[in-house]
Amino acid sequence: MAKIFHDPDAPLEPLNGKRIAVIGYGNQGKSWAMNLRDSGLDVRVGTVADTSRKEAAADGFPAHEIPEAVDGADVVCLLIPDEVMGDAVATAVAPSLKPGAAVCFASGYAVAFEEVAIPDGVDIVLVAPRMIGVGVRDSYLDGSGFIAFVGVDRDVTGNAWPAALAIARGLGATRRGSVEMTSRQEALIDLFVEQGIGPALQKVWRDAALVLLEQGIPLEAVLAEFYLSGEIERTYRAMREVGPIRQWQYHSQTSQYGTMSRAERFADLDTATRMRVSMEEISSGAFAREWAAERAAGYPRMKALREAEGGDALMDFEDGVRKQFDPTAG
Ligand code: NDP
Repeated sequence: MAKIFHDPDAPLEPLNGKRIAVIGYGNQGKSWAMNLRDSGLDVRVGTVADTSRKEAAADGFPAHEIPEAVDGADVVCLLIPDEVMGDAVATAVAPSLKPGAAVCFASGYAVAFEEVAIPDGVDIVLVAPRMIGVGVRDSYLDGSGFIAFVGVDRDVTGNAWPAALAIARGLGATRRGSVEMTSRQEALIDLFVEQGIGPALQKVWRDAALVLLEQGIPLEAVLAEFYLSGEIERTYRAMREVGPIRQWQYHSQTSQYGTMSRAERFADLDTATRMRVSMEEISSGAFAREWAAERAAGYPRMKALREAEGGDALMDFEDGVRKQFDPTAG
């Protein structure tokens, strides 16, 4: 059984009187800074851009260049994109880190795939929210909290776990529960959802749309059925609230019988083989190397893939349909 930490397991006291530097003031950074401050911790912000520094200052934080924010900090939360982590840490963070400090990542990627070098004598911890940045803040304010993965990759001081758990507590991540994970495990599950499940679902939805359009069902209705109505979203919510089996009760008998009786037809779809290929690329580091090379080359494949999506016309059409389902929206 994995260990799941809750508020009583995660006192804030280890960070009392300590300085927390939040580096990056974007999706996660802004919410982390606010939650940690509202939990009574001493927070300052470090950014590269003037605009985000001004925003942090306007929100009442001491806001600095990154090296100044890191200087003297006991915990440095790195809330910058994973793809810039290595360079940003080498140039702006590592030289100013004090021995005995802890760096806290919100994603295991950089540590798992050795894209970042943290100086010896500094602890490395992970508090990875399973929540977008705005949700990190909203769920703190409404008291519901969010789930996170929490772990320690390096503990030179002996204080890494209390620090990691106190950060999780200060964020609101131990209200519902934080699951013990290593950075590698977090990176594997995170990338696998994106690369093993995402593309498989995409294929399923595309095939389904094709079959429905062949029957003359209007595309507007297909989009409504698939996601604009929010029905599937509610089904997922029901899965969270009562579980995937019990949520059946919210569906008609016809729906239950139809789904269960036809499940066998798809049982031999060999998705596991393809999923294992994705997992092998992720776990061997081959994907991380490919992605690093893609970035270094200026994103040629990424640009080609985006163009091949043929987005504009479909997005315009979809915007029109969305508007018709929500006539009050701008
Ligand atoms: P954002 O894309 O919102 O970027 C955050 C900040 O990064 C910006 O404020 C920007 O600062 C700064 N930044 C960009 N480039 C550089 C650079 N070269 N050097 C220094 N700072 C830079 O990031 P997220 O908040 O989405 O992600 C932060 C971390 O959180 C990542 O590790 C991500 O994997 C993780 N995470 C993200 C989740 C999400 O839902 N977004 C969910 C869970 C984890 P400036 O304004 O100064 O340019």
